[in-house]
Amino acid sequence: MTTGDPYNTASNGCALRGKVALVTGAASGIGKACAESLAAAGATVHLVDKDDSAALATEIGAQAHVVDLADSEAVARLPRDVDILVNNAGLQHVAPIHEFPPEQFSLIHDVMVKAPFLLMRQCLPHMHSRGWGRLLHISSVHGLRASPFKSAYVAAKHALEGLSKTAALEGAPFGVTSNCINPGYVRTPLVENQITAQARAHQISEEEVIEDVLLSRTGIKRLIEPGEVAETVLWLCGDQCPSMTGTSLSLDGGWTAH
Ligand code: NAD
Repeated sequence: MTTGDPYNTASNGCALRGKVALVTGAASGIGKACAESLAAAGATVHLVDKDDSAALATEIGAQAHVVDLADSEAVARLPRDVDILVNNAGLQHVAPIHEFPPEQFSLIHDVMVKAPFLLMRQCLPHMHSRGWGRLLHISSVHGLRASPFKSAYVAAKHALEGLSKTAALEGAPFGVTSNCINPGYVRTPLVENQITAQARAHQISEEEVIEDVLLSRTGIKRLIEPGEVAETVLWLCGDQCPSMTGTSLSLDGGWTAH
């Protein structure tokens, strides 16, 4: 374990030995935690990110690929002999629809919808040949609910949900499952920076930002740890989950209970 995150227990030992995993957005946050857990469980892991993840690769015995997922030709050069695909990379842009830059909308959809589609498309033949595969999509509470000013992100996550359900139905005869994981706010560099900025902007404490701003719609007033998402990914890869497919697993402290 390398994160200091108590939920990132990576406790499956060698349960995934012999499996090859590819994790997008693996240089940071949730993707990094997923890569660490999959490697600790024995999988051979490919780290895919636009940022360099060579140090992490050395640390966990993985292979790093520096790739812009908006570049379809670069995506086509990634490994295809993949048993576990974690579609995680994402980005956010906040603006009202009438001011939203169309090129930003396209970029978000290229990275968060088209790249997952392309990766599934090129990895599925291997999964079919093995009679086993796991497609894990790090969606969001925003795959199930909207928030104002996040049109591209909300639309992309809803699209990912549809893609996952379609893959679940197509993969069923081949032992391939497809599931979304839907976190609320997770303690990643992205969110921690937002907390610091909002505390400064509103002249309130970081605790007040978390409870009153970020988690205003959430029952459990705490940020989710990246390791909690990683543990859910591992669980879905386990032998106990052959029938769980086409689902959206909420890790949102009760946000979608409203
Ligand atoms: P993060 O910013 O820490 O990590 C995202 C990673 O994706 C980064 O390493 C980044 O370099 C990579 N990435 C972005 N654009 C890319 C591109 N064009 N090509 C290759 N790599 C690219 O964010 P995170 O919080 O760990 O988020 C990971 C996923 O989890 C995202 O899909 C996000 O929507 C989702 N999510 C996050 C939260 C949260 O609160 N942090 C909540 C729900 C869902």
